Amino acid sequence: MVDQSIRVEKSQSRKSKPNPNDLVFGRNFTDHMFVMDYAEGLGWHNPSIIPYQSLTIDPACMVFHYGQSVFEGLKAFRTKDGDIQLFRPEKNLQRLNNSNERLVIPPIDEEFGLEAIKQLVELDKDWVPAAEGTSLYIRPFIISTEPYLGVAPSHHYKFIVIMSPVGSYYKEGINPVKIAVEDKYVRAVKGGTGEAKTGGNYASSLKAQEIVEKEGYSQVLWLDGVHRKYIEEVGSMNVFFKINGEVVTPALNGSILPGITRDSVIQLLKHWDVPVSERQVSMQEIFEAHQNGTLEEAFGSGTAAVISPIGELYWEGHHLNINDGKTGELSKKVYDYITGIQYGKKEDPLNWIVKVEKKTEVKY
Ligand SMILES: *Cc1c(COP(=O)(O)O)cnc(C)c1O
Repeated sequence: MVDQSIRVEKSQSRKSKPNPNDLVFGRNFTDHMFVMDYAEGLGWHNPSIIPYQSLTIDPACMVFHYGQSVFEGLKAFRTKDGDIQLFRPEKNLQRLNNSNERLVIPPIDEEFGLEAIKQLVELDKDWVPAAEGTSLYIRPFIISTEPYLGVAPSHHYKFIVIMSPVGSYYKEGINPVKIAVEDKYVRAVKGGTGEAKTGGNYASSLKAQEIVEKEGYSQVLWLDGVHRKYIEEVGSMNVFFKINGEVVTPALNGSILPGITRDSVIQLLKHWDVPVSERQVSMQEIFEAHQNGTLEEAFGSGTAAVISPIGELYWEGHHLNINDGKTGELSKKVYDYITGIQYGKKEDPLNWIVKVEKKTEVKY
C-alpha cells in the first residue's frame, strides 16, 4: 500500500482565491482533492489527486441512508519564513482508523494517508494563507458508497480529502464564550459512537444547539447520558476547568471524543509542571467550586479555535460567571503557546510539527 504511487491530474484552471482577511470557515475549497476507492477483494486502490469536483454517486449509496461515515479535521500553517507545516497529523490518521473500526469501515494505511495529505497540501500550497491567524483546514473523510438499501457494512468506500482556507477564529483577539449546560438532550452514551468522529454524532446534536443559540449561548456543554451529572464535552470541543490551581478535564470514558488539542493541552501542562488530572467531573462540583470561589478558569479545546475560554456557564437557572467573563491567564498562555508552535514562532519541545516542505515561493 505505502509504495502505491498517487496519480496526479492537475486542474487546467485555477480558482480565484477569497480575500485572506475575510475568510469564512468551510465555504471555499482549493483547486484539488484527493480520492481513493475501496472495494472488497481489491482493498484501497486508485489513489488520485484530481481537480476539485462534484461526485457522481448512486442515490442508493449506503451513506445517504444509514450514515456509515467518518471524518477528521486538521490544519496546515504557513510560518513567517514561508514553510508549511502540520500539527500532529499522524494523530488524525490514527483517530481516523479508530473511528473506522467503530463504524466497520476498512482501515487505511496511516503512513500512506499522511503522504497523500502532504502531497495534496504541497500541490495547493498557494492556498495556505499567510495573514495572521489564518490556516488551511484539511478535511479527510470516508463514505460508504455501495448502492444497497440493506442495513449492513458497505463493500465499497471512498476516502476523500478536501481543503479550505480559513480565517482567524478570533477576529478581535481571544474572546470568552457563553455556554449552556444541556439537561434534556444527550450527545452520546457509553457503548455508542461518541468516541468516533462520525457525522451522526453531529446530526443528533443539532437540536440542542439550535435551542441554546436562540437563548444567546454559543454552544452546549454535554452531560453524561445516564446520570445527566458528569461533564463530557462542549459542542465540538473538549473541556477543561482550573479549580484551586489544578486543571481538571473529564477522563476519556468511551463517550467523549478524544481531542488531539485536548491531549496537547494535557501534555503541555505536564511539561510546565502545572497540576492536571483526567477524571470524572460532575456539574455539581463545578457549581460548588464557583460558589466557593475556587473555579478560576474554564475553556474548551479543539482544532478550530485551539482554546476557547468560557466566560459564563448556564446550569439549572444559575448563571455562573467565570473569571469576570474574561480570558484566564492560563487559558491565554496555553493558547499562545500552541499557536506559537503551529506558526513556527515558538520552539516545539514535544516534536509536534511535521513540515510539508522546506520553502514555498507563492504567497497568498
Ligand atoms: C473533533 C472534535 C473535538 C476536538 O478534537 P481536536 O482533535 O482537538 O480537534 C472535540 N469534540 C468533538 C465532538 C469533535 O468532533
